[in-house]
Order: sequence, then structure tokens, then C-alpha cells
Amino acid sequence: MNFNQFKFEDALLEGLEAMGFDKPTPIQEMAIPVLNEGKDLIACAQTGTGKTAAFILPILNKIAKTGSSGLDTLILAPTRELAIQIDQQIQGFAYFLGISSIPIYGGGDGIVWEQQKKALETGAEIIVATPGRLIALLSGGKIKLNNLKHLILDEADRMLDMGFSDDILTIVNHLPKNRQTILFSATMPPKIRQFSKQLLNNPEEISLAIGKTAEGVTQSAYLVYEYQKEDLVKHVLNQKDYEAVIIFASTKEKVKSLFKILKKSFEVEAFHSDLEQVEREKIMSRFKNRSLKILIGTDIISRGIDVVGIELIINFDTPNDPEDYVHRVGRTARADSKGEAITFVSDKDQFKFKRIESLIGMEIEKTPLPEGFEKGPEYKGSHEKSGKKPGFQKPGNGSSKKKFTKKRENPEKRHKPDEARAEKKDNALDKQHSSPKYGKRTNVIKGE
Ligand code: AMP
Repeated sequence: MNFNQFKFEDALLEGLEAMGFDKPTPIQEMAIPVLNEGKDLIACAQTGTGKTAAFILPILNKIAKTGSSGLDTLILAPTRELAIQIDQQIQGFAYFLGISSIPIYGGGDGIVWEQQKKALETGAEIIVATPGRLIALLSGGKIKLNNLKHLILDEADRMLDMGFSDDILTIVNHLPKNRQTILFSATMPPKIRQFSKQLLNNPEEISLAIGKTAEGVTQSAYLVYEYQKEDLVKHVLNQKDYEAVIIFASTKEKVKSLFKILKKSFEVEAFHSDLEQVEREKIMSRFKNRSLKILIGTDIISRGIDVVGIELIINFDTPNDPEDYVHRVGRTARADSKGEAITFVSDKDQFKFKRIESLIGMEIEKTPLPEGFEKGPEYKGSHEKSGKKPGFQKPGNGSSKKKFTKKRENPEKRHKPDEARAEKKDNALDKQHSSPKYGKRTNVIKGE
């Protein structure tokens, strides 16, 4: 199977070839025909599955076929990083098409309003925006969306978790009723289904089983006491000359303190919501070009961010929410590469870890602590029999059309990370700053 089957325009196929896309991923195979027919779609797929191309290729193809008639598509994404990343993918695909996109997000620094205004005036077919910032522009009358043909909500579950549902509904009120609406979500809790009813019209539904961690990820865990974690992380990092490692900790305070410890021996940076947007972009760009090898962060980097070739994920803290585990591990082994994910499971976090094993439907191998370490805690009871071997897993199985394979929601209240609150704050600030009372906003956007 290859991309020719979708009857894409030659220039788009050229773009795909230039980006090294030989054959569609399962989510692309399922979603593209539905979208080519102009239907609304709800798709359950996590990042790393090729979901961005799944929703954007049919849109680019339509615009290329019919010719540009101004602003055509709005993509809403929960974070600036994801908005930038989607915009970059679009620019890659659209290289030979003459179609352009603009990322619009809050919290930027040092880039003046005039720049953004100019980018909007120059015209673009696609806007990729975070909800708060877009509301600011809409209420200031800076963007008109009444001729829009496509609305895409990416990582809808994350946007709802961050409290953006009202903002999204406000934005949708500015859009024509006659449009194609596409909703992608990594998980499909009932609230997403409820929400989608307000936005989508008789949608098709497709799903890649949540919980299937990416192909090629070797997963393992250390059972440790909290006091052993710092020495253990140093030990792991010293095992190999890693080129790209992400270490996840549960709070930004922990990120900062771990950073202080590790920077004495390693080239490392901390990534969290207290950093200015410019600093965040600088760090991410150094990480992408490999001048920085180790990044410590919270779940702000567990979703969406696409850095190819991450070799190792270390969960310094076991994630609170099993789905966050899937997202964290999804940072490695992207697009057919191989990767490793190691989780530190303290005695008090064992129940969380069991829930992760339940979600992914397999036991994760417990590695004995290295020589020289005191004995760690015992694992209290193993996961109910899944019949699956630990370690390695193939994706794609469990995919289905018109059927959701998982309809579960975390029984615990979802943990709202600091970052979600920070993003929300940025967006709220955007709203304030763009209101007539505050005059023009000056610290905004247009990514490179
Ligand atoms: P996404 O799930 O959209 O974040 O995509 C994950 C990664 O897979 C990105 O680096 C994409 O560029 C890459 N990718 C998506 N689809 C394909 C494909 N059909 N062939 C090769 N790489 C792909």
C-alpha cells in the first residue's frame, strides 16, 4: 500500500517523497479515505502514529485541487509546542503546493504584534492556533473565520483537560455551520464524546487501540526507594553515550532539583512552564539538533512534541495517569525507529504502575538494581494474567473502524499538571492583552 491509492495531487506526492513518507501508517490508511469523502471524523490515535499527516494531507490535497480561496482550515491544538510542530509538518508537505500556514499561540516573547498582523495580512490557507490566543484575535476583530471550510481539533482530550472547552465553543460560534470537522484525541473518555456531539455532524469513528505503546520500544522498570532514584538515574545515564534522552519528573519543582543535581555531571536542561517561551524554544531547538542531549521535563513534553531519534525515556517518577505513560513512552521509537523506556517505580507508586501494566495489557520487565545499590522494594503482586510477554510490542493491532476499542476513563480525578495551568494563564493573558482596554498585544508569534 502506498500514498498513490489516495489519488493525491502530484505536487503533494512529491512533498511526501521529499519527507521520506513511503507508505501510510494505519491511522492514515483509515482516516484519509473518510476525509477525502468530506465526512466529519472522530479519531482516537496517540501521537507517534502519524495522526498529523492523517488529518492534514486530505486537506492540503483539497486546497491544491480546487485552488486557494483564502483562509480554509483552522487547526486547534492545546500547546504552543504542538501548534508549532503541526505548522512545521504542514510546511514540509506543502513545499511544492504553494499553500501556507501560520502558527498562532500565546506567551511568545520579543516578537512584535506587527509581525503577526503582517503574517495574517499576507494571507494563509491554514491557521494552527492555541484556543486562548485565537479568541484574543477573534474578539479584537483581527481574524475572520466565516468562510472557513475545515476545523480540526488535535489532542482534544488534552484541550478539555486544560479547560479549553468553553473557548473552543466560542471559537466554533465564529465558524460557518457548513464545514468539515475533524476531532483527534489520544483517549476517548465520555466527555469527549459528549463534546464532539456539539461540534461534529454524523461523524465516522476510527480508533487505534489506546494503550498500544509504539513499535520498537523496549520497556523496563526498576523497583526503587525514593532515596535511590538520583543515584540510579546517574547510573543509567552513564551506561552509554546517549544522544537523546528525556527524563520525566512529576512536578516542575522536581524537574528543577533534578536539574541542579544532574548538571554537575551531564549536559542537561530543564524544560518547564516557568521558562519564558523564548527559552523553551531555544532548549527544544538545541535538543532537536542534538547540541543538547538530555532534557528533564514534566508531562508538558509528553504529548505532541515530535523529536525524531530519542533513544531513551526515563520516568524518574511513575506517571500518575496511565495514559501519560503511553504518551511519555510515545516520545521514543517514533516512525519506525527503536527506543527504550525505563520507569523508576518507588514502593508507594507500585499501584500506579500496576494500572499502567493493565492499560497497556502487558507486564513490564522489572530489572534488578545494579551492583552496589542496596536492595529495592519487592513488587507486590504481578499484573493479572495477560498472556503477553514483557518488553516488546507491535502497534497497529487493535485498530478498528467505527468502533472504539477502549472506553475507559481514569477513575481518579485527572491530575492537572502545572503546565496546563500555565498554558491556561498564558491564554488568559492573551485575552486581556488583546482587549481594547489593553490596546495591542506586543509579545506574540509567528514561528520561524
Ligand atoms: P505524529 O503522530 O503525527 O506526531 O507523527 C509522528 C512521526 O511520524 C512524525 O515525525 C512524522 O513525520 C512521522 N510520520 C508520520 N507518518 C509517516 C509515514 N507515513 N511515513 C514515515 N513517517 C511518518
